[in-house]
Amino acid sequence: ATTRTPLMAGNWKMNLDHTEAIAAVQKLAWTLKDAKHDFDDVEVAVLAPFTDLRSVQTLVVADKLEIRYGAQDLSQHASGAYTGEVSGPMLSRLGCTYVAVGHSERREYHAEDDTVVNAKVRAAFEHGLVPILCVGEGLEVRKAGDQVSHTLAQVDAALAGVTPEQAATVVIAYEPVWAIGTGEVATPEDAQEVCGAIRGRLAELYDAELAGGVRVLYGGSVKSGNVAQIMEQPDVDGALVGGASLDPVEFAKIARFRS
Ligand code: PEP
Repeated sequence: ATTRTPLMAGNWKMNLDHTEAIAAVQKLAWTLKDAKHDFDDVEVAVLAPFTDLRSVQTLVVADKLEIRYGAQDLSQHASGAYTGEVSGPMLSRLGCTYVAVGHSERREYHAEDDTVVNAKVRAAFEHGLVPILCVGEGLEVRKAGDQVSHTLAQVDAALAGVTPEQAATVVIAYEPVWAIGTGEVATPEDAQEVCGAIRGRLAELYDAELAGGVRVLYGGSVKSGNVAQIMEQPDVDGALVGGASLDPVEFAKIARFRS
C-alpha cells in the first residue's frame, strides 16, 4: 500500500483573468465541499497565471480553503534586471506551494532546454516552492520506442545538483507531448511504463525510500472519464490536468476519482 497522497493539479495555462480565477476557485471549493472532499485523501491545486495569484491567495486565505495554488513558471534568478520575469521569492510571498517547471510549452515556445529547467528547479527549491517538474517525449521519440530513455534523460538533467532533502519533496509530471491538449490520452499501461521508470531512476539517483515517497503524476488529456483507470496504475500518483481543469465541476470530478 502506498502512503503517497495523490495530487490533482490544474494547469490553467494562459486562461482565466483574475476575476474569472476567483469564480473558478470558488466554484471548485463549493463543489468539493458539497462532495465532502477530504483534502488529506486527494490534494487539489491550481496553477494560475501570475496576474491571478494575488486574487487566488486572498480568496484561499479569507475562506480558509484547503485548495493549494502555484504558478506555471518562474525565473531562474532571485531578482534583478530581468524584464518581464517573476521570481521564486515573489511566488513564495504570495503563498504559492507549487510551481510548474519545464512544461513542454515552455520548452517548445520559450526554448527552455535542460540547463534552464535545472536552474529553475533549483531556484524553486531555494525559495521554498515545490517544483512540479514536467518531462515527456514527443511523437517522433514515442514512434521510435525511445520514450523511457528520453524522459529519464530529462529527469537526470533537471535534478542535477538537487539534494536528497529537496528531491524528497519534488513532484514529477510525466506528460507525453503527443497527449497534451490533443484528446489523445496515453493508455494506463503507457503511463505506468514511464512513471514506473521515473521512480526507478529516482531510486538510482537517491535511494529507494526517497523514490517511494515522491509523487509522479501523469498529464495529457486527463478527464473525469479516464482518470480512474490511470490512477489504478501503481506508479501514478495524480494528474496534471490542462483543458479539463478550466471547468471547476469537471476538475472536481477528477479530484473525486475515488468516488
Ligand atoms: C498540460 O498542459 O499540462 C496538460 C496535461 O494539458 P491537457 O490536459 O489539456 O492535455
